[in-house]
Amino acid sequence: MDDSTHPIVLLEGVGKIYVQGGTPWPVLQGVNFRIDAHEYVAIVGASGSGKSTLLSILGCLARPSSGRYMLAGRDVQDLGEDELARLRNQVLGFVFQSFNLLPRASALENVMQPLVYRRVPLAERRRRASALLERLGLGERLHHRPNQLSGGQCQRVAIARALVGRPRLLLADEPTGNLDSQASADVLALFDELHAEGQTIVLVTHDPGIAARLPRQIRLHDGRVIADERASAEPTVVSLA
Ligand code: ADP
Ligand code: MG
Repeated sequence: MDDSTHPIVLLEGVGKIYVQGGTPWPVLQGVNFRIDAHEYVAIVGASGSGKSTLLSILGCLARPSSGRYMLAGRDVQDLGEDELARLRNQVLGFVFQSFNLLPRASALENVMQPLVYRRVPLAERRRRASALLERLGLGERLHHRPNQLSGGQCQRVAIARALVGRPRLLLADEPTGNLDSQASADVLALFDELHAEGQTIVLVTHDPGIAARLPRQIRLHDGRVIADERASAEPTVVSLA
């Protein structure tokens, strides 16, 4: 099957219901959109609007309660846990607000780790991880542990870990949420650069200023998509006549 003939993400009528104190609570309702290769998409909305829930569905960490999610042409509903884990490992890379690095492992070991599941030989794991860390400006920090790195450096390690398996889709949940303004700007510039190289990226943020930098914004409110906007490719022409 040629996966490139399918959109990377296709959501049709996706809903998610959590049960709180015996009461069903709809957190997502009727979510429809598609994301194609090379897109750079912000999912934006206030706290509690359902962004993280939506990203966890996109990332196959949670399943929809209703509707259909096709990831790279596969209906996730048809997949067992093992198949889903394999698809996740092959297609997706994740970046989180809190970095989620292994605290006792070095930067290099953190980045090598996803390749273990892919049975990449050790020397090749080390080569790919160190090349990526060097590219992200961390060549001098390969053997530092997370507590010996700044927040911005930790997030770059986490981005390297997400990219080392060459995922078709990079998912990031508030990736600058724990960073100071300079480190945030650096991380956003890095995402821009990855997008310019063709990486497909979905970035979740509550910050309209961050979302506005991206070419497409999907706006959530109370679990529904209330807008799906693309920046126009054509610059607006103002007639002076
Ligand atoms: P956001 O990321 O936009 O802040 P979330 O997706 O985290 O929003 O949460 C949306 C809503 O779903 C919130 O009201 C939250 O309390 C609720 N929620 C999230 N996860 C769970 C869960 N595991 N169980 C019950 N309710 C949840
Ligand atoms: Mg969230």
